[in-house]
Amino acid sequence: MTTLISHPLPVLALGLALGSRLIPPRLLLAGMLAACLPDLDVLAFKCGIAYGDAFGHRGFSHSLLFAGMSGVLAALGGYVFGCSPLKSALWISLATASHSLLDALTNGGLGVAWLWPWSPQRFFMPWRPIEVSPFIDGFFSARGVQVLLSEARWVWLPCLILAVTGWGLRCTLARRPGKSPRQAGF
Ligand SMILES: [Zn+2]
Repeated sequence: MTTLISHPLPVLALGLALGSRLIPPRLLLAGMLAACLPDLDVLAFKCGIAYGDAFGHRGFSHSLLFAGMSGVLAALGGYVFGCSPLKSALWISLATASHSLLDALTNGGLGVAWLWPWSPQRFFMPWRPIEVSPFIDGFFSARGVQVLLSEARWVWLPCLILAVTGWGLRCTLARRPGKSPRQAGF
């Protein structure tokens, strides 16, 4: 897995890039939580469920179906997030799916069950630059530092670039004649 420090960052970066008019703060926060949600499946180990089981780690909770179901639930609470049900559903689905995409970019463990329940196959991306994180009991070690350095390079820095670039573009648009800051997404 990728660490829970890094999982919310792509969602935060995209939300900051798009601006609070498009992605209200409550929806942004819900998306960051949704990006961590799939790793609750580590509780399966406590129940004796094997890693490779459909309900084990990186199983059904990392599937596209689970991401879609999270979006449907979020649509029901759309007004809580201060936006339309459709926007809530799309954002939360995307945020949840971002989790398994990051996991699929790691270089260890089993892949993610994107197509569950239609296929039990576990998938990785063809390019996997992110060091896989050990579980919490092995994290506070030299290996944990190596993982954080890898995530800083391949997740934190690209997220920072995305957020700053988006913010810069919105600032530029806001300064154009006839454009108010509100129209630019602030
Ligand atoms: Zn995961």
